[in-house]
Amino acid sequence: MANGEGCKCFARCENDCCCDVEWRSEREIELEAKVKELENMLWQVLSTINFCSNISKDLPDSFDDQLREGIETYFKEKDNG
Ligand SMILES: [Zn+2]
Repeated sequence: MANGEGCKCFARCENDCCCDVEWRSEREIELEAKVKELENMLWQVLSTINFCSNISKDLPDSFDDQLREGIETYFKEKDNG
C-alpha cells in the first residue's frame, strides 16, 4: 500500500491524515529499500576491507565509529542534495 491508500479520514496528504497508512509513493518506498540495501552492502565491503587490511592495529579504537559517522554523514548530505 502507498500514496495514502486505505486512508479512512478523507485526508489529502499525510499531515491531515490520522490513519496509520503509507503516504509515500511506491517509488519512494522502493528507493528507500534500495538505499538501505546499498548502505548494508557498502558497510560490509568497508568492514571486509578493514578486516583484511592489516592496518587496523595501527588505528585508534575510535576508527570504526569515525568510519560509521563518515558513512552516515555521506548519506545524509546525499539525501539533502
Ligand atoms: Zn487518513
